[in-house]
Amino acid sequence: MSRGGFEALDPCVHCGFCLPACPTYLATGDESDSPRGRILLMRALERGEIPADEPALREHLDACLGCRGCEPVCPAGVGYGRGLEAARARLHDANGLPFLARLTLAVFRHRVLWKSAFTAARWLRATGIPSRLAGNNRSGFAMGMLAASGKGSGVGRWGLGSTPRPQHPTPDPHARASRGTVALFRGCVMDTLFQRVHDATRRTLQANGYRVVEIGNQECCGALHEHAGDHRAARELVMSNAAAFHGRTDFIAVNSAGCGALLRDAAHLDPSPGASEMGSRIRDVSELLAAAGPRPGGPLPLEVAYDAPCHLEHAQGVHDAPLRLLQAIPELAVRRLPGSDRCCGSAGIFSLMQPAMSRAVLDEKIRSIASADPRPALVATGNPGCLMQIGAGLRAAGLPIGVAHPVELLDWSYTSAGY
Ligand code: SF4
Ligand code: SF4
Repeated sequence: MSRGGFEALDPCVHCGFCLPACPTYLATGDESDSPRGRILLMRALERGEIPADEPALREHLDACLGCRGCEPVCPAGVGYGRGLEAARARLHDANGLPFLARLTLAVFRHRVLWKSAFTAARWLRATGIPSRLAGNNRSGFAMGMLAASGKGSGVGRWGLGSTPRPQHPTPDPHARASRGTVALFRGCVMDTLFQRVHDATRRTLQANGYRVVEIGNQECCGALHEHAGDHRAARELVMSNAAAFHGRTDFIAVNSAGCGALLRDAAHLDPSPGASEMGSRIRDVSELLAAAGPRPGGPLPLEVAYDAPCHLEHAQGVHDAPLRLLQAIPELAVRRLPGSDRCCGSAGIFSLMQPAMSRAVLDEKIRSIASADPRPALVATGNPGCLMQIGAGLRAAGLPIGVAHPVELLDWSYTSAGY
């Protein structure tokens, strides 16, 4: 009989090796906020020993970031993420979701709604008001997140993003054969608040020998729904995207780690051949660029700290490709700071639903960045939630450090090289 994913927890031998890798355990010191403690709770939930509406059970499972930082350090190969999904689906079916979560997920379920909401947010961002109101309290932090999504929070502060861009990069003089056709997964937040990252993605891929084509009728990836336990909505979005991308290109480039993790693993939500066929073509943009070399650009003498998004590092197993991309930029000094593989506390709608835990987890990362010597000018990370969360945290701490997507940096470098 199918156990819906709970079986992934079976290998746990309760050794506790995962505890130091868990941001929520480090924040509270409570065993029930650790992977080992949560595995015991999830197993008890599966067996019916704890009812799905037990407040303590919900509190500790809701407080899990789903960052999967516990997976790579586990010697027994526990599939924590799969088990958590099963548990959250059980809680979702038994209890439903809080109003705020339902409202948020309903917006992401319909293109017309998220497009309207994020278009309004972009207008608000353009007024400069979020930047002025950014701060440490809850509303100030939300404003800081919106401000951090803008160019002025990263590329703009170094004056590099204002250079007029050619529509088509100059072809590589040492013309390589085409590396294949690539469709860009547009997503929701990326397609509205981070359009410049899409532009940079397209330009850098073209400069490295890929032919980039546009595919219409795309939807939000469904990761937020899946993490909240709403598998039906996530499956419907996967099916729509699989139909849109079916048989169209060699690769599908994703520049949002959270979307990439969900789409790559789409077959577990939708058993149809379309979902697994789509998943097999998904690549993080850094993987495609790293596979191409990538072509070196012009010098950018900046100190940059690379922070690995959990859903790239732990869920997709992509470790080196973003660094190889950044290393193609002459004079860019790139480092990984202590804790750079640990979650920033963003985690989809986690920062909305669990603001206190989200900030406690973020504070640790901001401390690490603040104490770095030399201090970085920018933090580079390949996920919109991380860019906004870390950017808001840096603003709240009064640190003059920007945030940028790695492809933005490579794109600047190509601009300065005249590509
Ligand atoms: S999840 Fe893995 S590392 Fe953590 S207690 Fe279980 S076996 Fe040990
Ligand atoms: S997914 Fe992240 S927050 Fe949840 S138990 Fe694992 S390491 Fe901790």
